Amino acid sequence: MRVSQFPLQTLKETPADAEIPSHQLMLRAGLIRKLASGLYVWLPLGLRVLRKVEHIVREEMDRSGALELSMPVVQPAELWQESGRWDQYGPELLRFHDRHNREFCLGPTHEEIITDLARNQLKSYRQLPVNFYQIQTKFRDEIRPRFGVMRAREFLMKDAYSFHVDQESLQQTYDLMHATYSRIFERCGLDFRPVAADTGSIGGSGSHEFHVLADAGEDAIAFSTESDYAANVELAEALPDRRERPAPSKEMEQVDTPDAKTITELVEQFGLPVEQTVKTLVVEAAERGLIALLVRGDHELNEIKAEKLPQVAAPLRFATEEEIRAAIGAGPGSLGPVNLSIPAIADRSVAVLADFSAGANMDGKHYFGINWERDVPLPEVADLRNVVEGDPSPDGKGRLTIARGIEVGHIFQLGTKYSQALGATVLDENGKAVTMTMGCYGIGVSRVVGAAIEQHHDDKGIVWPMSITPFQVSLLPMQMKKSEKVRETVEKLYQDLQQAGIEVLFDDRDQRPGVMFADHELMGIPLRIVVGERSLDKGEVEFRARSAGKNEMIPLDNIVSHIQ
Ligand code: ATP
Ligand code: MG
Ligand code: MG
Ligand code: MG
Repeated sequence: MRVSQFPLQTLKETPADAEIPSHQLMLRAGLIRKLASGLYVWLPLGLRVLRKVEHIVREEMDRSGALELSMPVVQPAELWQESGRWDQYGPELLRFHDRHNREFCLGPTHEEIITDLARNQLKSYRQLPVNFYQIQTKFRDEIRPRFGVMRAREFLMKDAYSFHVDQESLQQTYDLMHATYSRIFERCGLDFRPVAADTGSIGGSGSHEFHVLADAGEDAIAFSTESDYAANVELAEALPDRRERPAPSKEMEQVDTPDAKTITELVEQFGLPVEQTVKTLVVEAAERGLIALLVRGDHELNEIKAEKLPQVAAPLRFATEEEIRAAIGAGPGSLGPVNLSIPAIADRSVAVLADFSAGANMDGKHYFGINWERDVPLPEVADLRNVVEGDPSPDGKGRLTIARGIEVGHIFQLGTKYSQALGATVLDENGKAVTMTMGCYGIGVSRVVGAAIEQHHDDKGIVWPMSITPFQVSLLPMQMKKSEKVRETVEKLYQDLQQAGIEVLFDDRDQRPGVMFADHELMGIPLRIVVGERSLDKGEVEFRARSAGKNEMIPLDNIVSHIQ
């Protein structure tokens, strides 16, 4: 690609609302542009990276025997009513009407749609097992879109759904997906850990998340120094910098303990959105004699108005940001999602219900508040709350290391949750109808791009892993307009490199060297060739790997093979 035909728009300044390196660099290098909160345009450079990740994902899914299909983004409400999730899924589900006043939503995930397809298409055990996947746009009205494409509202997901006659068959596909995910993330050049994740109401050991280790991660994961043990801690407290907390303020201690019944009635009385999950949470907090502080959100659930509540139950009120910081021990800076709230409940006698967000994950489990994602019973949480760095591990081997992780993938044994609700059966060997057993497997394809940058950057910009770089080589001529020799050489080299199958970004803008170097370093192109008159006189060009500190002089005749 010639830069003259590829309008580069790198930014010198760090955009103000970008908190983490990947978000900053994606904006600065011209990979993405923000359209609105959580909505991004993928510019040509960024799209090349996204497509590379997508390509790796597709290759590995195909290799595993999964079948690609494509389902609509717009989904009819009826199917969600059948599964029960129309009521359970919170405001993350964007709902709307068509011109005939029929209800629809934008798909945050596709269990209902695929299960509907399966009940119509699959009739016999002979058609199983089967694993369908798509790489497709998802929409989740995230309560706090942030970190650019890492927590966007519209994003690209690879989601797969498998169907089986029995648990044994599901386990086989699940293990295959586990291995497939490991290959995918390895090929993307990521340092990652598969960790055991909560399976909520379904139970068992059938869920793993794949986490990219990075400081910007919103999850805490615990893994053993000496064994394969690894789990999502899901506890802010486990992060070392959150362990020391100030005592709760006097004012908070003085607030009366709410009465569970009153709160239940309260929720109903005000016709709050039928959020069973929120109700349960409030009631649970109350039953444990805890104070519920509500954090104002700007979502649907904000119908729970601050002004209405205190009159009925004094203890229920909106907390100020200061109070929340004090309760959870968060220092200055943004109130990140890791700050909440299970540990706060467990040992501070304060329940922080951030934004009252309630929703459901891909697997249908509920979550509350920011990053309070699972319906973990409180006693279990209390058991876990002392998990800290250096603890012996749960399996008796080694000590626990606690790290931050970015969830890039999630595999889950669904069992018959959806197939039962939708009546998806096949006939078994004896001609008897059996409900199919299901698994689901997600990868945040667009999130992987951000996560890769979190792990691969320096103070000059991005340092792409070779497998997902938008271009492998920058070809930078010095004073091309002035030197015929440079111009001819570089044009020929551009053709030769392309013919050798190398993706080249040829900077034919005739810019000053400093400007070119800075731009290409910011964009993270892993290799660069500088063609200048002086070195050409010696029959050489200058070569440098983005990750290496210095130049090498390579004979012009050898440069293509050197790169291959
Ligand atoms: P998170 O915990 O980050 O909210 P999730 O558990 O809600 O993610 P899943 O339902 O497991 O997400 O979806 C599968 C994958 O989709 C996730 O592992 C993640 O990589 C990706 N993903 C989820 N939400 C987003 C988002 N808002 N933006 C980008 N990628 C996302
Ligand atoms: Mg989520
Ligand atoms: Mg999650
Ligand atoms: Mg998940």
